[in-house]
This record gives sequence, C-alpha cells and structure tokens, in this order.
Amino acid sequence: MKPANSVLSGLGTTVFEVMSRLAMQHDAVNLGQGFPDGRGPEDVLAKAAEAVMDGWNQYPPMLGLPELRKAVADHDRRFYGIEADWQTEVMVTTGATEALAACLLGLIEPGDEIVLFQPMYDAYAPMVRRAGGVPRYVTLTPPNWRLTEEMLAEAFSPRTKAVLLNNPLNPAAKLFSEAELRLVADYVQRFDAVAICDEVYEHIVFDGVAHIPLMTLPGMRERCLKIGSAGKTFSLTGWKVGYITAAQELLGPVAKAHQFLVFTTAPNLQSAVAFGLAKDAAYFDGLAAEMQAKRDRLTVGLTSIGLAVLPCEGTYFVNVDLSGTRFAGDDEGFCRYITETAGVAAIPVSAFYDADPVRDVARFCFSKQDAVLDEAVRRLKGHV
Ligand code: PMP
Ligand code: GLN
Repeated sequence: MKPANSVLSGLGTTVFEVMSRLAMQHDAVNLGQGFPDGRGPEDVLAKAAEAVMDGWNQYPPMLGLPELRKAVADHDRRFYGIEADWQTEVMVTTGATEALAACLLGLIEPGDEIVLFQPMYDAYAPMVRRAGGVPRYVTLTPPNWRLTEEMLAEAFSPRTKAVLLNNPLNPAAKLFSEAELRLVADYVQRFDAVAICDEVYEHIVFDGVAHIPLMTLPGMRERCLKIGSAGKTFSLTGWKVGYITAAQELLGPVAKAHQFLVFTTAPNLQSAVAFGLAKDAAYFDGLAAEMQAKRDRLTVGLTSIGLAVLPCEGTYFVNVDLSGTRFAGDDEGFCRYITETAGVAAIPVSAFYDADPVRDVARFCFSKQDAVLDEAVRRLKGHV
C-alpha cells in the first residue's frame, strides 16, 4: 500500500487525550484537558431540548441558521461595536476547530507562510501544514509571554499570508495588550496579510480588563476573521458550535471549505446558542466572575503548597513555574508524576510548542467544581 498523508500519519495522539486517558487509569482528578464539569446554563439546555423535540432536525442552511447568524452579529455589535452583515459576514461552524480548519483550507496556497505564536493550541501547526502552509513561529516565554516588534520582524516575510492569533491565549492565560495588538495589526497591514483570530475565550477574562478583538483596531475590520465558540461561552464544550465573523471577501473562500468539510452544524444546538448569545449582561459578567473565583481558589491552593503560580488574565488555566520545585525532570515528567503518584492530572506546556519548547511550566485547568479544585490541592500536598 502507498503511504498515508505524511503530515498527519507522523503525529502522535493529542496531549489532551493522552493525559485524560492517564488520568482515568490512575483515577486522578483531571485538571488536564480544558472543560468545565458543570451542567452549563439550564435555560440554554432547555432551549436545545425544546428544539430537538419541536424544531427542525434536518439540514439547516450551509452558513448556519439565520437566527444564530443574527445573534452573532448582534453579539459582536453589543460587546465590541463591530458592525457585521449577518447574511454575508457571519458563518456558523462545527466548533472553533472547524472554523480554524475552514479558514486555513480556504485561504492558504501551498507555500504560504503563516505566523503562529507559541505556546499555541496543539491543532494549529498540523492544520497549517496539512493545508500546505509553512509555519513561522513567534516564541513567547514566561512569566509575561511578552510580544515585541523584533519577534514580528523576524517572523514576517513577503510570503506571509496570515497570522493565527489566539487571544486570550491558551495555555499562557495571557491577554495581549493593546500595544501588542497594535504591533500585530501594523505588521499584518504592512505585509498585506490577514489575521485568523481565535477568540474562543473572549468572555473568560478577569480583573475587569476588557478583551479587545484585533478586528476592532484601525485598518483591521477587512483583514480579520474573528472566531468564537459556544463551547467556551456557555460552558458546553461538547456542543461544538462555533462562529466566524469576517468581511465577505474573506468569508467567501472559507465558506467553500466549510461546505465540503461538514456543510453544516446541528440545528437544535444552533437555536439554543442563538438564545444564549442574546442573554443579558448578567450572564456574561457572571461567567467571568465565576471563572475568576475558580482561578483565585486554585491559585491560593497551589500557592499554599509551595507552587509558583504565574499570572492569569483569562482562559480556563493557571500555569505553574516548575523551575523552583525540587522535581528534577521536565514538565512532561512532572505531569506524569503527579498523575500517577498524587492522582492529579495537568498538561505539560511544552506540548504547545513546535520548536524550542519551554520545559518548566505545567498547566492546570480550574473550570471545575470547587470541591474538585480543593481535592486536587489536598492530593498534591506532600508530592510537590
Ligand atoms: N482554540 C482554542 C485556543 C481552544 O482552547 C479550543 C478549545 N478546545 C478550541 C480552539 C476549540 O474550540 P471548539 O471546541 O469550539 O472546537
Ligand atoms: N482546548 C482544550 C484544552 O486546551 C482541549 C480541547 C481538546 O481536548 N481537544 O485543554
């Protein structure tokens, strides 16, 4: 038989699956894979159930249900002042993952360079390569994960087609500052590129700091594809409903990829997400406040047992700097060790780098019941 695709067949299993399996084997508290362990908002669940029983369960329109596309456009206007035409500038996807895949497949020509900021979500580099793109890395390092102009100057070239920017950044728990975003915007325009903006954690930001979509910076409205995820915004990660807002010229080719990737997304879940996006400010403020309290709870707990917790401005995650611990191995060894011996799973941050990884940071997910967070700290005590 002839060989399978060389980009994909050479890959290992994603670190989230590996650590979740290991956690199960050792009956560990799983603070590895990022997902909330609650039920999610009852009214959004009820809407989905109602839509399954009473609604349309056949193929919805390819770009998504009109009610959800309108809701996404309304959401973008309400939170960010973005004016988007729901009919031509919004598309519903099967999770942010499919949105990313459709953007990369729809926009990349073989040999195009794509600027990626590592640490990055582990799907990015393989998807870029499979689409024929060449990743060019900007490498960010703890504790501040700061982005400088020199880094961009090194990564951009006349072959740069796009940047893929995740903000707030998983796993670094960093919110890019306005100054950093301006730098990115400046380079994107200077090199006539576009920005694929993975903003799935847009509503999980802390300490009253506002999330700034790159799309809202001067000159960027026509150059950005803004991606959101109902999985994160409604704490329902299994739903896999995502959405893209972008100028028609950019969204057009992305929709062509979408039509042959999945064509569409479960209509009942789309209805429920449309309902959810229209919820009042109390819901969105409450989500951020709830996650911030969990961040604080886990931070206090981990600090109390002697771990050095890095700053966290958003996302589901806090990172621990292992360089000061007595553990001799790297982050991967540390995560395996605590899973097997303490019964608490975390994710090694080196898994989010394609080249020159940082090897002394471990990521812990705090979007869990308080009792689960407390139990994790209790178990870790004495092992770190
Ligand atoms: N991007 C980032 C940065 C993520 O953390 C996630 C969550 N797993 C995704 C994309 C994928 O989102 P979805 O589950 O909506 O596909
Ligand atoms: N985004 C989640 C995380 O970072 C995991 C998603 C997945 O399991 N693929 O943990």
